[in-house]
Amino acid sequence: MSELFYKIVFGTLWLIYILIRVPHDKKYKQNRKESITRENAEKGLVLINFFGLVLLPIIWMFSPWFNSFNLYLPQWLRIIGILLIVISLFFFYWVHKTLGQNWSPVLEIRKDHQLVKSGPYKNIRHPMYSQIWLWVIAQFLVTSNLISGLSGFVAWTIVYFSRVKNEESMMLGKFGEAYKEYMSKTGRVLPKINSGYKV
Ligand code: SAH
Repeated sequence: MSELFYKIVFGTLWLIYILIRVPHDKKYKQNRKESITRENAEKGLVLINFFGLVLLPIIWMFSPWFNSFNLYLPQWLRIIGILLIVISLFFFYWVHKTLGQNWSPVLEIRKDHQLVKSGPYKNIRHPMYSQIWLWVIAQFLVTSNLISGLSGFVAWTIVYFSRVKNEESMMLGKFGEAYKEYMSKTGRVLPKINSGYKV
């Protein structure tokens, strides 16, 4: 399959991702927030994500500039990448729906914020972040390019590790013991494997 095929498929899947997000973004702008954490740092992280997951892949899609960084991955790996993105989109839809109006693109406590523990949140504390990990791995496989492939992974690694502990401190500040207990029963981005026997 030609390079153009992968560019069109990747672009189309991107549009679906945006379509899933749009209604949530509209609601987010209408709802009020109670408090915001690390405002400027968080804006910086959103920008880093934009570069790695949006801008550089767009340049890969629409220009020949990154052609000399092509990695020539085998077709089957690139097809697996497409399948991973499709799976991640279904998961993204489910996570967004479950999180509802508690979602925000930066670290915030919304007005009437509820602690969500159901659906994808039952065993995983940050399923939306799991989805992004899956996405950046898939971005590497589908674009098969050193720059647009690695940019998502590098950007998300920076954003994830700068954010996740602060997010959990913020949630602990808001929900206290309830979040502590929730943390003990869940994994960060993978389900917690329950090792002990309960008598
Ligand atoms: N980290 C989560 C949510 C990402 S959206 C995930 O990966 O699925 C970021 C916002 O979600 C944060 O500002 C926080 O207010 C909110 N949030 C995170 N975990 C939550 C939970 N279990 N219940 C309700 N809101 C949550």
